[in-house]
Amino acid sequence: MRWVSTRGKSPAISTSEVLKRGLAPDGGLYVPESFPEGVAPSDARIVRALRGLAKKSWASVAHDVIRPFFHGEKVESEVPSIVKSAFNFPIELRTLRSRRDRLGVLELFHGPTAAFKDAGARFLSHALARLQPPGHETTILVATSGDTGGAVASAFYERPGFRVVVLYPKGKVSSRQERQLTAWGDNVRTLSVRGDFDSCQKIVKELLSDEKWREEHGATSANSINVGRLLPQVTYYAWASLRYRTKHGAVPNWIIPTGNLGNAVAAFWAKKLGYPMGKIVIATNSNRTLPDYFESGLYEPRPAVQTLANAMDVGAPSNFERLEHLYGGREAFLQSSDSVASSVSDDEIRETIRETKVRWKETICPHTATAFKVWERIQSGEIDMGGVDEHWVVVSTAHPAKFETVVEPLIGEAVPIPESLQEILKRPPYVTEVAAELSAVKEAIGAPMKDVGSGF
Ligand SMILES: *Cc1c(COP(=O)(O)O)cnc(C)c1O
Repeated sequence: MRWVSTRGKSPAISTSEVLKRGLAPDGGLYVPESFPEGVAPSDARIVRALRGLAKKSWASVAHDVIRPFFHGEKVESEVPSIVKSAFNFPIELRTLRSRRDRLGVLELFHGPTAAFKDAGARFLSHALARLQPPGHETTILVATSGDTGGAVASAFYERPGFRVVVLYPKGKVSSRQERQLTAWGDNVRTLSVRGDFDSCQKIVKELLSDEKWREEHGATSANSINVGRLLPQVTYYAWASLRYRTKHGAVPNWIIPTGNLGNAVAAFWAKKLGYPMGKIVIATNSNRTLPDYFESGLYEPRPAVQTLANAMDVGAPSNFERLEHLYGGREAFLQSSDSVASSVSDDEIRETIRETKVRWKETICPHTATAFKVWERIQSGEIDMGGVDEHWVVVSTAHPAKFETVVEPLIGEAVPIPESLQEILKRPPYVTEVAAELSAVKEAIGAPMKDVGSGF
C-alpha cells in the first residue's frame, strides 16, 4: 500500500513510512494511492454471515481493516499484536429508545483517557514502537486543545525510546483535561503555555522546521493529520457499521462531532473501503467554517472561536484536503450528497445536554451534544436529508465526567467518574508554565523535570 500527497507533488511512500511522517514534503496530506479491494465483506456476505459477523470483536475487525495497508511490509506479521495491544478497551454501540424514536449511539470514550483520541494514540504508540530501530530515540510533539495531549501522553508513557512533549494553552482546557495532560512525568514533559491553541501549534511547527533541533531530538508530531492516528479510527466505524447492519437489517447514517475532521474523514474512508456506511453528517460548534462551506461552496478558514466543546474549536479543519481529494474535488464532493454540516451554538449545547437527560435519560458531553442537536434538526425536517430513513447513529466522543463543570449544573446531579479517569486524577501533576515563545519552550524541554505538587 502506498500513500501519496493530496497536492500530488511528493513521492509515494509505504504505510510503515507514512506513520512516521506528518505533512508531505509538498505541504499536502498523505492519502492512500488507492484503497485496498475486498476489505469489507459484500452486503450479500454480511446478510448470509449474519451471526458470525455480529459477534466479531472490534480488534478482529480492526485487523481485517489495517492488515491490507501493511501488505508486503516488514511489520505485516506484527499487525495482529499491534491491534490487540492497542485496542484493548471497549467501543460500545448502543440503542436508545424513547416512546417514539430509536437512536444509535457509538460510544468511543471507554479508553484510558475517556475520549476517542485513545484509539488513534494507542495504535500510533504500539505501531511506532515496532517500527523504531533499536537504540533510536524519538520525541513526539503534541499541541493540544484538550483531549489529544492526554491520549498521546498516556499511550507513550514509560515507553522506552520515546519522549512526549505536550503543549496546551493555559486556562483554556477543562480542569480534568488539565489533570490528564499533566498526570505523567517520566518520559512525558507537559508545558502549560501562556497563549492560545494556535500559538501552541505554531511553536510545534517552528520546532519541527528547525532542522538542527529536529534531528537532535528525533522529533516528530502526533497531531490529527498523522495517518497513524487516522487509520485506527477507520476501524471502529467498520466494526460498528457491520454490527448495526446485522442487528437492525439496515445501513446506518452517522452524525459526527467535528473539529479537525479527523474522525469524520475516518468514517468516509470506512465507507470507501465498502463498509455499510450511509450518510455522514458533520456536527460543529460555533466554528462555522464547514457549515458555511456546504452552504456557499467556498472554503474559508478563519481564527477559531472558543466554545463549550473545546476540542472542536477549530477554524481551519486540517483534514479538509483529504475529504475533497477523496471525492476528486470540491464540486464532486458537494454534489455527492453523502454529507452535510450543521453548526450548534453554546446555548443549544446546554439545552441539548439538559433535554437529552430528560428525554433519553442519558448524560452527554458538550461535544456529543452537537451531534444530538443535529439529529433533532434532521428529525424535525429543519435539515433535509432527502427522505433518509430512521437509522441514525450519533457518535459520542468524550465521557461527560471530563466536563463536569458544564454538565453537572445542567442536569442537576453528579456525573460518576469512570475508573480509568479516577486513577489519573489521583496522580500528582508534572507541569512547567512557559511563555508562548519558541526559546522558552526549547529551554523548558531541556530542563530537568520536577514534580510540582498539586499546583492547581
Ligand atoms: C478531538 C475531539 C473532537 C473533534 O474530532 P476531530 O477529529 O478533530 O474532528 C470531538 N470531540 C472530542 C471529545 C474530541 O476530543
